[in-house]
Amino acid sequence: MAVDGAGFPVTRTPAGVARSARGTRDLAVLDARISGCRACPRLVAWREEVAVVKRASFRDEDYWGRPVPGLGPADARIAVVGLAPAAHGGNRTGRVFTGDRSGDWIFAALWRAGLASQPTSTHVGDGLELTDVRVAAAVRCAPPANAPTPEERDTCSPWLARELALLPRLRVVVVLGGFGWTALWPVLAGAGYALPRPRPAFGHGVEVTVEGPGGPLTLLGSYHVSQQNTFTGKLTEPMLDAVLDRAVALAGAPPDAAPAALPD
Ligand code: SF4
Repeated sequence: MAVDGAGFPVTRTPAGVARSARGTRDLAVLDARISGCRACPRLVAWREEVAVVKRASFRDEDYWGRPVPGLGPADARIAVVGLAPAAHGGNRTGRVFTGDRSGDWIFAALWRAGLASQPTSTHVGDGLELTDVRVAAAVRCAPPANAPTPEERDTCSPWLARELALLPRLRVVVVLGGFGWTALWPVLAGAGYALPRPRPAFGHGVEVTVEGPGGPLTLLGSYHVSQQNTFTGKLTEPMLDAVLDRAVALAGAPPDAAPAALPD
């Protein structure tokens, strides 16, 4: 596989994403492969333009300008899945949900839930460590107007599918927003989960448990931590805390319990 100037393996097509994701055996390799992905021309152009033009307040910083991989340990029993990186957040810092107000919300909440070592995430190397949770996005490149197309969502989907498959203890997925909710169901179907029909509608606090080849997996819906929701009070800290507390309770099986892994 060809590598780019930073040493990341380059993927250029949707078929290449599916192939590369399927052949990945650990999270570090997956993170590198995601970081070198160029399969969505519109998003590649946008993320790189933003990284050059920059926001005035960050003009002295080097933007990441690449897809943003997930964060958190491979033994996580909880996954948090958001929409996509922000142009001047994750696309700037190179860490999911880091560098904008959405990240301030989710990492503070993860800290309150006992899943993060500190309440802030400002940049790679700031000392943040996550415990028992992996944070990722349904689409890994910053989209114009925070709006990926359905085609871009589907192209990026194998990265998410593989990331969840590489979490052998996974029991709970907290889904932030309707976009991630929609993106997750085909991933679960592809992994062999028996899904209810019709698909349960997204909503804050919605809880659905599905049975898969490796055991049950519970999906918890939460309104997204976007400023549109947090500034208006549609999503409050107690509302988010309640969802994460529920995730912690659901994941609270003893460490030697049988894992509910997504299959290869
Ligand atoms: S959105 Fe996903 S599939 Fe598309 S270029 Fe970015 S990482 Fe690749």
